Amino acid sequence: LEVLGAPIFNEANQWKGVVLVFHDITELKNLEQMRKDFVANVSHELKTPITSIRGFSETLLDGAMSDEGLREQFITIILNESERLQSLIHDLLELSKLEKEEFTLNIEHISVPSLVKDIIPIVEQQANQKGIELEQTIDTEGYIDGDSARLKQVVINLVTNAINYTPNGGTIKLDLKDQKDFFMISVTDSGIGIPKEDVPRIFERFYRVDKARSRNSGGTGLGLAIVKHIVEAHDGNIEVDSEYQKGTAFHITLPKKFTKR
Ligand code: ADP
Repeated sequence: LEVLGAPIFNEANQWKGVVLVFHDITELKNLEQMRKDFVANVSHELKTPITSIRGFSETLLDGAMSDEGLREQFITIILNESERLQSLIHDLLELSKLEKEEFTLNIEHISVPSLVKDIIPIVEQQANQKGIELEQTIDTEGYIDGDSARLKQVVINLVTNAINYTPNGGTIKLDLKDQKDFFMISVTDSGIGIPKEDVPRIFERFYRVDKARSRNSGGTGLGLAIVKHIVEAHDGNIEVDSEYQKGTAFHITLPKKFTKR
């Protein structure tokens, strides 16, 4: 709360009272704090891989190069950390584009089942490596106007998360349903689930339930923030239904009649 005060005097310059103005600046303060946290998070996220790339390069130059085993191990780390930097920068740029006022969707007429079918080959290999079964149920057909590449990115991000947060041998279901004025796409996994208290925060930039786990699986902590922006830009909605240690379901609803802003 911000308080501004001023005394009031009458014509004879006698003190009459005070005017107090109360401003609720909670919202502003929160925004400012979020901006500061974001900058701090970005810096930290960039620093971690760079420190590691630098450290391992120096160790190689200092002599580790002559040990064949170490050489391969260190170069692999350097490569992985460079890939992490690349995904981080890619996601940051995408998020910054989506948050700009003048951002526009690249609208096409899209067959809705293709949003599910086309992404299977992209994620299949990753699922197979963990012995995870991908099932799809497509109960409807039809078209919507939307940004095809971005909507596919949404489904890819959700399925990639489902794979990352599901132990080997689990199952992931992709469902497409007709819900009168909406199409609903659901991604349901039999994975580790999300603790109740974390559920409201998972769409925040860089929020992760388990930092180490997210990093090890190549996560940037920005995927769901991007997903939410894209869905909302299509006047859609995203909901989570999760049970800790049982599994998680993400439901996206997209209006059949969407007119671009
Ligand atoms: P990340 O790159 O860390 O996966 P996201 O923004 O995609 O970032 O997700 C944020 C966090 O939400 C993850 O770190 C993870 O803790 C949690 N999460 C997302 N999807 C799932 C899921 N299917 N099952 C369990 N936890 C999930």
